[in-house]
Amino acid sequence: MIELSHIEKSFGDTAVLKDISIRIPEGSVTALVGPSGGGKSTLLRCINLLEIPTAGSVRIGDEKLDFNPGRKVSWQAIQKIRRQTGMVFQNFQLFPHQTAIENVMEGLITVLKWPREKAQARAMELLTKVGMAHKADAWPSTLSGGQQQRVAIARALAPSPRVLLCDEPTSALDPELSAEVVDVLGRLAKEGTTMVMATHDLRLASQIANHVVFLENGSVVESGSAQAIFNSPKHERTRRFVSSIN
Ligand code: ATP
Ligand code: MG
Repeated sequence: MIELSHIEKSFGDTAVLKDISIRIPEGSVTALVGPSGGGKSTLLRCINLLEIPTAGSVRIGDEKLDFNPGRKVSWQAIQKIRRQTGMVFQNFQLFPHQTAIENVMEGLITVLKWPREKAQARAMELLTKVGMAHKADAWPSTLSGGQQQRVAIARALAPSPRVLLCDEPTSALDPELSAEVVDVLGRLAKEGTTMVMATHDLRLASQIANHVVFLENGSVVESGSAQAIFNSPKHERTRRFVSSIN
């Protein structure tokens, strides 16, 4: 279980997240949707503590951290939470000077101190899962965007994180390449990978997510099952947002 309780995040005087509480059960997929600037990316980054919440708490499994404006959180405590997450970014962010398989092995070797052979076997297993085993030795610059994103997904999953965080995983891709990535994420979801994704792609959200959270101006306007949000949104604002895209 991942639990965000009463999360607040301000940049200077600007409150960007306001009292956000969400529970994410193991094995579920949660989509964060809503207009640009609503706080989707910031909320994702508060889960892996790339942003430190101003207040509230983050629990991932047995690890819980409370945040208060006056208290500094230790690096070790941040690492304990962060290591339970994997993240996929809009622009893939593969290491350009490493091949596909080296990208997937990197964290296992440098952070987890795995021996090379073990990391290689794990990386190959993940590349196979995302349909990229045949490109293990390719350089990122020779791969399509969809292929790069699939390698990035393999890299994020390599250390077996408790949750995969995806920030707009398909928005840099044209529809055909986006479909490849949606297909991979859909398979991972079926296998029970816990995921939280920020996305403008309501097709992706409706295909993969069990749970949808609609965020606007840093607040949760409405949340519920994907079916409820897409088919019978209660809030007028959610209704307009969903229908503007359909
Ligand atoms: P998009 O759909 O465009 O990706 P989003 O929902 O992901 O938007 P965020 O990127 O989380 O929105 O931004 C929420 C708000 O926080 C915006 O007003 C943004 O300008 C502000 N913001 C985000 N990061 C910072 C930062 N590092 N410093 C100051 N303001 C920030
Ligand atoms: Mg964003």
